Amino acid sequence: MSLAATYGAYRHLMAWQWRDRAKLRELQTAKLRELIHTASEHVPYYRDLLKRVGVSAHDIVGPEELGYLPVTTKAMLQACPPEALLDERRDVNDLLPHRSSGSTGQPFTVFYDEQFRSVRDALFLRALETAGYRLGRKLMLVTTTRRNERPWSRPRWRYVSIEAPPEELREVFLGFAPHVLYGCVTPLRLLAEELSARGGGFRPLRGVVATAETLDSDTRRRLGDVFGCPVFDIYGMIEMGVVGWECPERGGYHIAEDTTIVEPAPLGDDGRHRLVMTNLDLHAMPFLRYETGDIGVFDEGPPCTCGRMFSRLKRVEGRLVDCVRLPDGRGLGSGRRPRRRPRHRRERRGGRDRDGRPTGPGAGAEVPCRRMPARRRHGDLRCPRRRRPRSRSGAHAPSSGSPRRPRAHPPIHESRSWRTSPTTPRDGSSPRPSS
Ligand SMILES: [Zn+2]
Repeated sequence: MSLAATYGAYRHLMAWQWRDRAKLRELQTAKLRELIHTASEHVPYYRDLLKRVGVSAHDIVGPEELGYLPVTTKAMLQACPPEALLDERRDVNDLLPHRSSGSTGQPFTVFYDEQFRSVRDALFLRALETAGYRLGRKLMLVTTTRRNERPWSRPRWRYVSIEAPPEELREVFLGFAPHVLYGCVTPLRLLAEELSARGGGFRPLRGVVATAETLDSDTRRRLGDVFGCPVFDIYGMIEMGVVGWECPERGGYHIAEDTTIVEPAPLGDDGRHRLVMTNLDLHAMPFLRYETGDIGVFDEGPPCTCGRMFSRLKRVEGRLVDCVRLPDGRGLGSGRRPRRRPRHRRERRGGRDRDGRPTGPGAGAEVPCRRMPARRRHGDLRCPRRRRPRSRSGAHAPSSGSPRRPRAHPPIHESRSWRTSPTTPRDGSSPRPSS
């Protein structure tokens, strides 16, 4: 993967965050139709799924029709042979595997194609840009990402394992002198404590970017004080890349709607939603209506003053984290320092069952799937609506058939948080309420 491809994708995404929502909807629709065509023709899992529910690729003409597909969970995908999840035309040796473990202990591998590798990195760069990072500046990453994954980033990026003890984090930090620091919350906090305790001169950073774990206000303040810069949070996952990131206003996470469709599935009446996502750019291994297991609260207020057109999440709960855990089972979430090199274990936080579904009131219900109207069941969208005979006065005669049948389930797209139409004018006026 070349820097040119990544930079091209980056410039593309940087422009899209300022486009209006009508353009954004056109982009989502175009990407979705191409993705659905690939999945229904060439990916056995989705080919069988669409056939089973009687939906054809031609029925999915835009984001609203996504609701005709059932939701897929990680447990469902884990139960399939890996080849059933991949585009049959692809050679698996040409794809980049990303393995994620889970609460079930079963490995789950996501395969990236070349295009999504560029998009994934471009999404990351776009999120870093708001924290003061520019290509050419020095970035220190405390993460599990393999350092050979982005050869173009050498030597300006320095990777350090999240398993590194605080002493090593401090040594690398002082020696490398990064402009921006990125990593999981726990090792960043350990580094900040180590620097405070042992000292060491360094210039203030341009920004700190946290990820993977919940960033509480105390930790945010502490990191800002030690590193002398604003602190930002990123919400992402292996299956989607960066889904949301904080802008300088830090009023929630802007959703990367140019690459991901996020559907809110109501969890109760307290404004929390299960987050169901479709990755619009990963074609080798599609994720359509994928229930992430995360819970989010959407911001339905006026548009962000930064001018970005993307919808926002106020907060995300139940994130999958790579949590530092001591050999005796104690977590490091309380800010305690390890006495020896900690062992790390993948851990889920935030009330989810073994299948990765959220637990709690209302969480056991299935995410609804829309019923395909009878007139569209055979996928013939070009079939014109049957005209009713006109009366002599020119008015339509009443239908002779039975009254229109109500929908079995409200589509989750039409819940009050879902906005695909232009609702966020640049002039700062209140968005048009969605239906
Ligand atoms: Zn903003």
